[in-house]
Amino acid sequence: MDRNLKTDVTRLNPILGKILSHATQFLQGLNERPVGVVPPNYDIASLPKEGIGTEKALEAFNNKYGAGITASSGPRYLGFVTGGSTPAAIAGDWLVSIFDQNVIGAKDSSAPEVERETISFLRQLFQISDSHSGTFVSGATMSNFVGLALARQWIAQQLKIDITHNGLYALPAIKIFSGSPHSCISKALSMLGMGKSHLQIVPCLPEREAIDLDELTKNLSRCQEPCIVVANAGTVNTADFDDLVGIAALKQEFNFWLHVDAAFGGFAACSPKYCHLVQGLDTADSIAIDAHKWLNVPYDSAMQFTRHRNLQLEVFQNNAAYLGVPAENPDFVHLTPENSRRFRALPAWFSLIAYGAQGYQDIVERDCELAQLLGEKIRSCRDFKLLAPVRLNVVCFTLSVDGQEIRLDTIKKFLEMLHDSGKVFLTPTVYGTVPAIRAAFSNWRTQQIDVQILWEALSETISSFKDSVMQ
Ligand SMILES: *Cc1c(COP(=O)(O)O)cnc(C)c1O
Repeated sequence: MDRNLKTDVTRLNPILGKILSHATQFLQGLNERPVGVVPPNYDIASLPKEGIGTEKALEAFNNKYGAGITASSGPRYLGFVTGGSTPAAIAGDWLVSIFDQNVIGAKDSSAPEVERETISFLRQLFQISDSHSGTFVSGATMSNFVGLALARQWIAQQLKIDITHNGLYALPAIKIFSGSPHSCISKALSMLGMGKSHLQIVPCLPEREAIDLDELTKNLSRCQEPCIVVANAGTVNTADFDDLVGIAALKQEFNFWLHVDAAFGGFAACSPKYCHLVQGLDTADSIAIDAHKWLNVPYDSAMQFTRHRNLQLEVFQNNAAYLGVPAENPDFVHLTPENSRRFRALPAWFSLIAYGAQGYQDIVERDCELAQLLGEKIRSCRDFKLLAPVRLNVVCFTLSVDGQEIRLDTIKKFLEMLHDSGKVFLTPTVYGTVPAIRAAFSNWRTQQIDVQILWEALSETISSFKDSVMQ
């Protein structure tokens, strides 16, 4: 055995002790740590012939990269839609590495049962009925990918084309309709061989990112073949919601698969104040929800749900002598894009057991209140302009300086200046045609004080920005 590996084995206790104290220090210092760092030019070292052991590796890592590890899991990283990790989720995630189970589903571990139970907890959290089965995947992109793969299978089945064995070659182009799809829908269509160009954007309601049902109806009535509707429950710019009940009702008249991208919006179901936004979610044929966002488990983790597990088995069944024939309750290896799979359910299981439905209601409601608070501050300040009502946890706004037209470049420069403080992190976007800024609240740690710090940083930055850049 390698000398360093041998030493490591005997020093496991002190090694894990060091990692523990490093971890506690990091987490305790999260509030003060810079929220974003522009990485310097690191040199790429050559592979050491002889190693240095874990303790020295930790030192080497800290010296070279430590300062570049940011507080993106902290309370003031409001870019994209970024969650943190609850203490229970961290505990579960550590054990994932320790246990190192491969959640394929062979009859040799309780891990698949933990995943089944966690999926069941999550169905209850999101008020999804048990007509839906579910699995863990790596993120909402993969979750949308799975949902669209099932939709494709469903359409092929109706057209009596066996795409599992013969591929897409005999399939006519499938139309996909959506109002404000996330960019990953196009990516999924590319991966699935369905083609980005077949995604048809349907007009939204005035001043909204929610699909216009009349426009959708028009599009569907022009469609001869079965097709797909990707409904959005929580758009990234303004957290807007399609009318899921209304869309589902159109199924009486038209033949389409309803997929709902509820990556973060699904969490509206956790609160009686917001659950009306996802009314009708259960009627979907497939649903995508992220775990590494609002569930606040570490990357990477998401769930996919569907009412059509048989189709899922057709798409993802992995035939191999040693895996046997899928049973009535098929093993996960036959249901997901991956074969070997991380024990992703465990951090979620820990966090759900530790904090329960109430814990998540509390996180969701607080984040939404904080978004409201920021929204009010922006509404009452001349230098900024709120671009949409704060419906859930996302605040979408732009700069408003002396009636000047704001370009995306200007927004990016402003954000660079804002990020220099290291205190807050927001991301740019374009809302409609307006270059804008988003702040998305989805971390359990975020408190009122953080909104104050954010507001001070925004106010300071806008005044120096007006002095320097906008003259
Ligand atoms: C984040 C997000 C995605 C993509 O999720 P990943 O976890 O980054 O793969 C898809 N849809 C929506 C609405 C999102 O917010």
